[in-house]
Amino acid sequence: MSHFVHAQRADFKGEVFGVKLDLRPMLRGEVTRVGVDFLIEPEAPAGVELDGDAHMEGLVTNQGGYMRLEATVTVPYSGTCARCLDAVSGTFVMPFERTVVTEGTLTEEQEEDNVDEYVILEDGFLDVDEAVREALILSFPMRLLCREDCPGLCPVCGKPLRDGDCGCVKKEIDPRWAALASIRFDEDEEDDTKGK
Ligand SMILES: [Zn+2]
Ligand SMILES: [Zn+2]
Repeated sequence: MSHFVHAQRADFKGEVFGVKLDLRPMLRGEVTRVGVDFLIEPEAPAGVELDGDAHMEGLVTNQGGYMRLEATVTVPYSGTCARCLDAVSGTFVMPFERTVVTEGTLTEEQEEDNVDEYVILEDGFLDVDEAVREALILSFPMRLLCREDCPGLCPVCGKPLRDGDCGCVKKEIDPRWAALASIRFDEDEEDDTKGK
């Protein structure tokens, strides 16, 4: 585990212990803005490689007691296109915004029902490491595409269709559909379906 953490100067240079950001000066009313600039070691979503640490940049602000964390998390990734299997890489960008509350502000029920809404300070320190890791896993695209309209592969010869037509006659039934076409429903079952 190698967490590298760095709090950047806004009005106040937040003191960092481990991956925690010291917001006690904000709670005491000494500052209204604290910059956030963390590197977080992320967990890779299934089927994807993360090519570096996640970088979280943003700001915690305090407006009359209402504290808000507004940050953006970026992480470089690589994987393969779900349609043509080409290599895909890029930078995933995820907004990470939470209302910051002190312990005891929320009931246990409110905490459980709004995990993606609030972050809770512990003794005046903000620790979002785990929350960011979880959010990354949840919001990463389920499948990657080399481009939105990737036409995939020719079902006959397997060449990527993005390079233009391969000249194959594509009237043959795609083997994936052929398997479906061979499935026969018996009369009773069909009647059953109609009756519903
Ligand atoms: Zn593709
Ligand atoms: Zn072809």
